[in-house]
Amino acid sequence: MIYPFNSYLCTMKYQVHQMQPPAADMLSLGKLLPVMEQFYSLQGEGYHSGSPAYFIRIGGCDVGCHWCDVKESWDANLHPLLEIDKVLESVLESGATNVVITGGEPLMYNLHLLTSKLNTLGISTFLETSGSEKLTGNWDWICLSPKKNALPKEDIFLHCNELKMIIHNSNDFLFSEEMASKVSNSCLKFLQPEWSKRETITPLIVEYLKNHTQWRLSLQTHKYIHIP
Ligand code: SF4
Repeated sequence: MIYPFNSYLCTMKYQVHQMQPPAADMLSLGKLLPVMEQFYSLQGEGYHSGSPAYFIRIGGCDVGCHWCDVKESWDANLHPLLEIDKVLESVLESGATNVVITGGEPLMYNLHLLTSKLNTLGISTFLETSGSEKLTGNWDWICLSPKKNALPKEDIFLHCNELKMIIHNSNDFLFSEEMASKVSNSCLKFLQPEWSKRETITPLIVEYLKNHTQWRLSLQTHKYIHIP
């Protein structure tokens, strides 16, 4: 599914005023992206858990979850701007057939070019997003993980394939149901314990799942087996 990019709608959080015009234009067009890290591993959580995937983690996020486990991603300016053609070379070298684009909040950037090129190469594109920015890009799978302090834009609810709610405390069950009421009937729904609270919150999720059978459990399996 293709979601077009309208440059005038883009909230460009990278400090473009510090950049030379060609670089600013390339960032706006999605030819450059601030890449925090990229690696070939297994998807650890959600529907595709256990499947091999190449991860591209894009820097920049202003959602500000207090339990965020990638706070070093928040400031986009700390991460190198890479040409997407170089990133594509690395993906091809890995042999991966699925690419997960995550962050940070990847929808802060124009992802149309990167995702279109990946699809042209026969590589599936999976998005991990809070939905706090306008949906753009060319996606085979969208995992939406809404956050209370920056609610998703309305249009993404109808397009997401997977709803993954992070449960930090018991109030998050109510928020999860509120978000689930907005997605399509075909959207798969997961509850995932917030990692730092997993010992106390996982038993509550298990009990909740027994009585709310539309949900499934998602665990951060990559953290249990110590892979990135
Ligand atoms: Fe961290 Fe994701 Fe929340 Fe941004 S949206 S603060 S990257 S958990």
